[in-house]
Amino acid sequence: MTGSLSPEQIQARITTIQATLPPPTRLICVTKKQPSAVIKAAYAANVRDFGESQVQEAIAKQAELSDLPDLTWHLIGHLQSNKIRKALQHFDWIHSIDSLKLAKRLNTVAGELSRSPYCCLQVKMVPDPPKYGLTLDELWSALPQLNQLTHLKIVGLMTIPPQESSLQEIAAIFAQAQDVVNQINNKGFDQLHLSELSIGMSSDYPLAIAAGSTMIRLGTTLFGDRPA
Ligand SMILES: *Cc1c(COP(=O)(O)O)cnc(C)c1O
Repeated sequence: MTGSLSPEQIQARITTIQATLPPPTRLICVTKKQPSAVIKAAYAANVRDFGESQVQEAIAKQAELSDLPDLTWHLIGHLQSNKIRKALQHFDWIHSIDSLKLAKRLNTVAGELSRSPYCCLQVKMVPDPPKYGLTLDELWSALPQLNQLTHLKIVGLMTIPPQESSLQEIAAIFAQAQDVVNQINNKGFDQLHLSELSIGMSSDYPLAIAAGSTMIRLGTTLFGDRPA
């Protein structure tokens, strides 16, 4: 069972979207709350990048998918400090570095485990109190310390527009994210060369692609509503 859609429907949706993606944009299939059968269906459509919000849930699915050898796992949800070790053992990418404190803890444990995950800084371009993420002020002041975290490959920025944003506001937020990436790169930090922009979800991915997204994170538009 793959929920409301058949494997063929899922594959057709993925193939359609893949065909529209310009070369720098990679599709991350967000399979949180979806069974591993959904991941198998996406795999059959040549997807290898999967996004999950919760460490334990991802680990359970990875155990069920051990026959698929070449999956790349992306953590896209808030990481609690007691899950850092497991996250490093089970994910290749962490898109949700939402505080300097988390980055420092991740770096320490990554060193202990000899892991060096690809990371994105999760930034709030506009105030959004309920959401995790560095504010722009926090981001600018954290850069010198982030530059010291040699066990993390900090390669990009992730942002999620506030829930109630209009399309115009979303477009402005995405443009600003690209601008922030450029500004960081121009500062010349030796460890901080950002080439990735993790923007775009089901409701706004065409805008994100137009704004230069390198990783769109799609769930519902590919798989239907998530099971409750
Ligand atoms: C759930 C989630 C997505 C996917 O959202 P859809 O609207 O289902 O495409 C993308 N990014 C993050 C961080 C998410 O938590």
